[in-house]
Amino acid sequence: MASIKDLAQDSHTVTWCPGCGNFSILAALKKAIVDSGIEPHNTVIASGIGCSGKTPHFIRTYGFESLHGRSLAAASGIKLANHSLNVIAVGGDGDGYGIGMGHFMHACRRNYDMTYVVHDNQIYGLTTGQTSPTSQKGMKTKSTPDGALEEPVNPIAFSIAAGATFVARGFSGDLVHLSGLIAQGIKHRGFAHIDVFQPCVVWNKVNTFEYFRKKCYKLGENEKYDPTDRMAAYAKAWEHADGLPIGVLYKEERPTYEDGLPPLKKSPLSKMQIDNINIDGLLKGYE
Ligand code: SF4
Repeated sequence: MASIKDLAQDSHTVTWCPGCGNFSILAALKKAIVDSGIEPHNTVIASGIGCSGKTPHFIRTYGFESLHGRSLAAASGIKLANHSLNVIAVGGDGDGYGIGMGHFMHACRRNYDMTYVVHDNQIYGLTTGQTSPTSQKGMKTKSTPDGALEEPVNPIAFSIAAGATFVARGFSGDLVHLSGLIAQGIKHRGFAHIDVFQPCVVWNKVNTFEYFRKKCYKLGENEKYDPTDRMAAYAKAWEHADGLPIGVLYKEERPTYEDGLPPLKKSPLSKMQIDNINIDGLLKGYE
């Protein structure tokens, strides 16, 4: 059984800005890995590009830092090559809900057995403060000095509609609650999407820790909430003016993509003996 100490990556200095919400997501992820009982040597964290893209450098599991928007593409490939691994994809809102949106939709509907943690800071941080897909309408940034014109993407409503089987939202200002959500996502058999409100303390002066502390409330704390009710989850996903619900918004049990692939029933692809396979007949088809 791994401990938090086992997950410390001494070879890399964490380079995020002091006070960034990314620190507690990293701590929550480590705690969730320990609490869910998965082992670092059986775990791969795949990322895209952005401040959050550095996560695999800072945690001692296997890791893969891919291209911008491709964390889910890399994670899907890893999962299909060896479905016995625990696969966790991480990325930011720009990475996942902008350039990577196509991968996001298909990962949801395919229901790969993996966990996707999105550091949603509503801004492009690494490139120094441009409007992202989740920036609020009217938000003034370097790229929209007169205010963002578009409506923001609603990632929670999107993943529920696209077929994700575990949909949750956390806040990096509540580490223990967030880590519980990530642990549940890891244990869930299927595609678990966890959107995390993560203040970027340098470039986003609107969606601050204080803003989220005032707006966020925990699902099920003061009201009954059934996360298996898809329509109720969809309605919750659109709540904004009266508060922002955090917790597990939706979950269902459904066979995974890997379940539907007969060759994977015998063993992971990466462990199959392929030396004696004769592909002459297959190649003839291309002559
Ligand atoms: Fe965090 Fe923003 Fe700094 Fe990136 S730019 S490390 S998101 S505070």
